[in-house]
Amino acid sequence: MERRYTAHAPRLRAATGCRHIRKISVDAGFTCPNRDGTLSHEGCTFCRNDAFTPAYCSARKSITRQIDEGMAFHAGRRGEADGCIVYFQSYSNTYAPLDRLASLYQEALRHPGVVGLVIGTRPDTVDSEKLDYIVGLARQRYVAVEYGIESTDDDTLRLINRRHNFLTAQRAVEQTAARGIDVGAHLILGLPDQSAATLIAQAPIIARLPLTSVKFHRLQIFRSTPMAELWQREPRRFAAWSAEEYIDILAEIIRRLPPSMAIERLSGEVPPRYLLTRPWQGVRSSELWGMLDRRMEQLDARQGDLCFDKPSERR
Ligand code: SF4
Repeated sequence: MERRYTAHAPRLRAATGCRHIRKISVDAGFTCPNRDGTLSHEGCTFCRNDAFTPAYCSARKSITRQIDEGMAFHAGRRGEADGCIVYFQSYSNTYAPLDRLASLYQEALRHPGVVGLVIGTRPDTVDSEKLDYIVGLARQRYVAVEYGIESTDDDTLRLINRRHNFLTAQRAVEQTAARGIDVGAHLILGLPDQSAATLIAQAPIIARLPLTSVKFHRLQIFRSTPMAELWQREPRRFAAWSAEEYIDILAEIIRRLPPSMAIERLSGEVPPRYLLTRPWQGVRSSELWGMLDRRMEQLDARQGDLCFDKPSERR
C-alpha cells in the first residue's frame, strides 16, 4: 500500500548511506533539571525512565560498552545492520558542561559501527555554545536533536509539571534548525483533559515549527508515578480511546502537518510490568502503521492536505 505520509526511515537511509540502520540507546549518566532540584525534584508526572531503558543500557558502563552490547542485542533479534545511530536517550542529554558532552558524543562517534547520533533532551537545556558544537559534529556525521515538547498548551505543561512552557520549546527548535541541524519533537497524546479536538487543534502550531521529524506517544500510565495517582483518583480526566479512535486522531493531525516533517513513531511501548493500565489489549505499536495506512486510504487523505501553515525558515 502506498504511504500517504512521510516516513522517517528512508530519510535516515539517505542521510547515512546505510541500508539497514539500528538505533542503539545509551544511558550516559545524565540527570535533568526537573529531577535534580534545579527546577523540581518530582520530575514530569508521567516520567519513568527505567520503563524505556533497554536492559543493556546502564550509566555504570562506558558508552563504548553499551554500544557493543546494544549491537549484539539487536543483531540477535533482528539481524546485522550496516550502520548504527547512537541514541542518547535517558534523561536530558545536553544537561552538562560542554566538555563533558563533547567527550561522551565523541566516544560514541569513535565507535567503528556508528554513523550518527540522536540527542534527546529538554528544550531548556541547550544554549548557543552547545548548539554550535553540535553543528560541528553534524558536519562530519548524521546528527539530530530531539526535544521533548509533549504539548503546545501551557496549561497542560503546568499540569504535568514540565517546568518549561511551549515558547521555550519553540525557541529551542528554531535555534537548532537555524543552524541546519535536524530537529525532532516528542508529543504525548492523551494527557489529562485532552480531547481529540484539542489535540487536532495543536497540529497547526506544530506545523509552524521547523521540525524534521515527529514522534507521537500515546500516554502510557506507568506505575509509581504522580500520573498513576491522578489516574486512580480522577480517571475521567483521561481519554479512553480505542486503537481505531487513536488512529483517527493521528490521521487528522498528520493531515495538518507539512510533508517535510517525517513521522517517526506513532506510539511507544514498554514492558507491561511498568504499566498501571494497558491501552488496546492485544494491539502492538507496530500494528498501528498498517492501521494508519488503511485509515489514510479510506479517507483518501495525505500528509499536508489540510496543512495551511508553513514551517518557519530553517536558516
Ligand atoms: S521526562 Fe525528561 S525532563 Fe521530565 S522528569 Fe523525565 S527525564 Fe526529566
